[in-house]
Amino acid sequence: MYQERQGEKLQEFHNMINITFPDGAVRQYEQGITALNIAKSISEGLARKVLAADVNGQVWDATRSITEDATLKLLTWNDPEGKSTFWHSSAHLMAEAVESIFPGVKFWVGPPLDNGFYYDMDLGERKLNEEELDMLEKRMFQLAKQDNFYVRKEIPKAEAIQYFTEKGDEYKLDLLQGLEDGTITFYTQGNFTDLCRGPHIPNTGFIKAIKLTNIAGAYWKGDEKNKQLTRLYGVSFPTLKELDEYLILQEEAKKRDHRKLGKELGIFTFDDEVGPGLPLWMPNGAIVIEELEKLAKETEEEAGYKRVVTPHIAKESLYLTSGHLPYYEDSMYPPMELEGVKYYLKAMNCPHHHKIFAAEPKSYKDMPLRLAEYGTCYRYEQSGELFGLMRVRCLHMNDAHIYCSKEQFFQEFRAVNDMYLKYFKIFGIDKYVMRLSLHDPAKLGKKYINEPALWLETEDLVRMVLRETGTPYIEVPDEGAFYGPKIDVQIWSTIGREFTLATNQVDFAQGRRFKLEYTNKDNQPETPLIIHRAPLGTHERFIGFLLEHYAGKFPVWLSPLHAKILPISDKFLQYSHEVKTKLRKTGVRVETDERGEKIGKKIREAELSRIPYMLVLGEKEMNDGKLSVRRQGKGDIGSYTVDEFISMITDEIRNRN
Ligand SMILES: [Zn+2]
Ligand SMILES: [Zn+2]
Repeated sequence: MYQERQGEKLQEFHNMINITFPDGAVRQYEQGITALNIAKSISEGLARKVLAADVNGQVWDATRSITEDATLKLLTWNDPEGKSTFWHSSAHLMAEAVESIFPGVKFWVGPPLDNGFYYDMDLGERKLNEEELDMLEKRMFQLAKQDNFYVRKEIPKAEAIQYFTEKGDEYKLDLLQGLEDGTITFYTQGNFTDLCRGPHIPNTGFIKAIKLTNIAGAYWKGDEKNKQLTRLYGVSFPTLKELDEYLILQEEAKKRDHRKLGKELGIFTFDDEVGPGLPLWMPNGAIVIEELEKLAKETEEEAGYKRVVTPHIAKESLYLTSGHLPYYEDSMYPPMELEGVKYYLKAMNCPHHHKIFAAEPKSYKDMPLRLAEYGTCYRYEQSGELFGLMRVRCLHMNDAHIYCSKEQFFQEFRAVNDMYLKYFKIFGIDKYVMRLSLHDPAKLGKKYINEPALWLETEDLVRMVLRETGTPYIEVPDEGAFYGPKIDVQIWSTIGREFTLATNQVDFAQGRRFKLEYTNKDNQPETPLIIHRAPLGTHERFIGFLLEHYAGKFPVWLSPLHAKILPISDKFLQYSHEVKTKLRKTGVRVETDERGEKIGKKIREAELSRIPYMLVLGEKEMNDGKLSVRRQGKGDIGSYTVDEFISMITDEIRNRN
């Protein structure tokens, strides 16, 4: 079924080329062979899965001729580049469907997303409705079944301009302005031709399942002075099963949306007058925050950290010393001026901590020094990027900086890693991966601080820690920070959604910039290594994650309310008060539902508020000095004396079960 591409002249190729596969195997093929035909020569099954190809480090159409020796990686749905090629090609298919139903439509751009694709288009005055979405979906499906090839054609600029002038698409003409002759390609599938640099999947038949997910407005080039275009979103899959799984996950994610749950459970809110991206933590949210900080403080105290507290602002000169200014200025709030000096809201806690290190002379006996703070930082995120608690402008960070000698580094880094694993266990995070970003020796002194030995040494030590502790990790070359290797910690919620929790950073540079020193055993000054770490990330992101992870049903220790007393009638209010007083004395967070409502309604509402324990009190309970205990989601779990219940719940809270 995979013939030579339409329109391509068959040429006689006699030369052979060497193709190197990812496992290092080298095979010979005729010059001009395509990745798709190479896949076919391996197996038909593989060929059916090949979406694109990585040829000498560049992602290409799998149908493009390879004319010289090359390294080759066949890209399938399981490769991020394969997936994005699939989704981008689906955007072309969507455009074809739109044009076939609404001729005269003009197109801007149609990129892939993390989860699907969109295309921006000018439909004139027309507003799409749900029925039309259905119709477009069906049309896309029909077109997909035609198995049309995505045919690539290099085209002179003049010809491209002529094509879109005749078509009357000023948006594509605008795109063409920025392109140079000799670099312009058209792709055609079926009756639709687009200006695009590619790559695309071999043909439309690979797209087996389609869902158009959303219609939105988008200003041309993101500028609100420009015309508003229609942005049509969709997602597509190589099998129907994958679409079904996606839809189920979407449904579940909607129920667990942290913005919805945060409102229902009184965790946080936003207010226009306070400002975008500045969450207000409500009483229930403040309890969750305090419990997390309690956990962090206990854990850090046990691990030998010392707590510090620092101001939210600092003079410009501090950030010039740290190097955050001018490089990071776009991510900071604009400065305020006072007594002729510029002050900035802090975007990082590090510089303040370094000043605490420098405040008193240090010797090797003071090392390692671990300074911890739940520090409040302010970062400028564009308003379009703000998203619930996930992207905010004010964040509370589980921050600490560890100052240590090279000899202490391994031990210290290992302890940080252990802390992560401890937290993952407490929060039931079963799936996580550490992404270790390394330097590129060729870029030392440019992209990376010029410390070749230190880079290799610390990278090795970090790797050793990850191996020894059996922590799942992947290595990413050439993505380290300027001043040292870093680890991004990725975690997955119970419904399988990925979150980036935090970044750990090894730092060779800041110590020197701040002239931090300690006296070593030979009485010589030495610059400490610095580890930046934040295992619980920020309250904002982590609580957003936890809301989804637990679907709002926090474990007892984290619950804003541990228990609610539900008296059956006013007759038992006195007994309810006695029980409440006794529970509160032992630290149980408990309230009484004193309303004159029916008990059934009280139970239902407590269930909906996801309160872990409900204590029903009536005649029998009062006479026996007992409580009828219900567990959220489980129903009646039996009757207990007040002391029995206290012992059970305080155990559960203490152990953070
Ligand atoms: Zn394209
Ligand atoms: Zn830091």
